[in-house]
Amino acid sequence: MTDQLRAKFENLELNAGLGKISAFISVSTAFLCLFGALCFLFPSVLTTPELRPLYTQHYDAFYFSLMLGIVISAGFGAFSAIARQNRYGFYGLCLALIAAVLGCGVIKAPVLPSLPFYAGFDYFVLTLFILALVFIPLEGFFAKNPEQKILRVGWVTDMKYFMFSHVGIQLFSFLTVMPIQYWITHIPNNPIVPLVQAQPIWLQFIELLIVVDFTTYWLHRAMHEVNFLWRFHAIHHSTEHMDWLASSRLHIVEVLMTRFIATLPIFLLGFHTSAVFAYLIFISFHAIFIHSNVRFRFPYLRWIIATPEFHHWHHSSEKPAIDKNYAAFIPLYDVIFKSVYMPNHLASVYGTVGYKIPNSFVKQFTWPFKRYVNRMKKRFGNSSDIKKD
Ligand SMILES: [Zn+2]
Repeated sequence: MTDQLRAKFENLELNAGLGKISAFISVSTAFLCLFGALCFLFPSVLTTPELRPLYTQHYDAFYFSLMLGIVISAGFGAFSAIARQNRYGFYGLCLALIAAVLGCGVIKAPVLPSLPFYAGFDYFVLTLFILALVFIPLEGFFAKNPEQKILRVGWVTDMKYFMFSHVGIQLFSFLTVMPIQYWITHIPNNPIVPLVQAQPIWLQFIELLIVVDFTTYWLHRAMHEVNFLWRFHAIHHSTEHMDWLASSRLHIVEVLMTRFIATLPIFLLGFHTSAVFAYLIFISFHAIFIHSNVRFRFPYLRWIIATPEFHHWHHSSEKPAIDKNYAAFIPLYDVIFKSVYMPNHLASVYGTVGYKIPNSFVKQFTWPFKRYVNRMKKRFGNSSDIKKD
């Protein structure tokens, strides 16, 4: 089914005048509204506890946004279906009506029971909405590769990664942040913490960038240079089209390793929560920006802060660019450790060299393990042969 979904909706041109653009706006907004309406209906299981006080405080604004989204989706859907005879416009209109039915019954902020498990559907909807609103126009106006379509090859797979990483936020923090948090709080009288926390928040923010980037530089380098780790990281490099959504393509093992390595110094040095929070928002946004299909070059800044130009070279499949530009934020680490590559022209071809990585989300998950499964099969096959002899 997902093969059919990819065949139908990937590499799809949204030409004007056929109702495709209005159908795209209608269907995508309708899906966001559907998920949003479900969050309003089942908040105790579908929303992130950290964000719930915000919803209670601004309940009317969030509910109004949902209704506005439904109206926008239905309006574009109706235009596409009636004026342009586009059936996807009709589907968008139907989805908007379902969202309206689901959302209509909720008129008051409920008192939520605290359950041990939740899914971050709200986190998924809000992040996707904000990022799409920022990056789709940005890439449209300042595209590095203007030929690249919004619905380019691989977007369905990348959207699954995006959804999985946001909805599964509890699972990820349970496996990475929580064990470290537990361990660190059990270190008695950590002498570094008061020294770090005595500094102003802005200074802690800069220190976080420097310290975490140093640890992730080496993890990233190890992922390229250690074959076992590369098999997981190769999934991220398998994309042949760079844009904001391509940043989501990360194998779960890589996500867990990176978060663990990034979180360790944060807790070990005891940075203030405000500095950590500001850092996480900034670095997450920056990580998406450096993957985006934009032509900004930042002539001087590109040696101080990682830019799309710098990171696109990291994804390049051109020979001189292979295993270069590991830093997520500070290119100086690549200069110091001799792994920098930044010629005068921009990168243009991306992807892995010498590997045929499958396109589907599930197959990409199993791909790094396949080699070991095959080895096991061979081994068992051989041992049974020996027994027979
Ligand atoms: Zn890499």
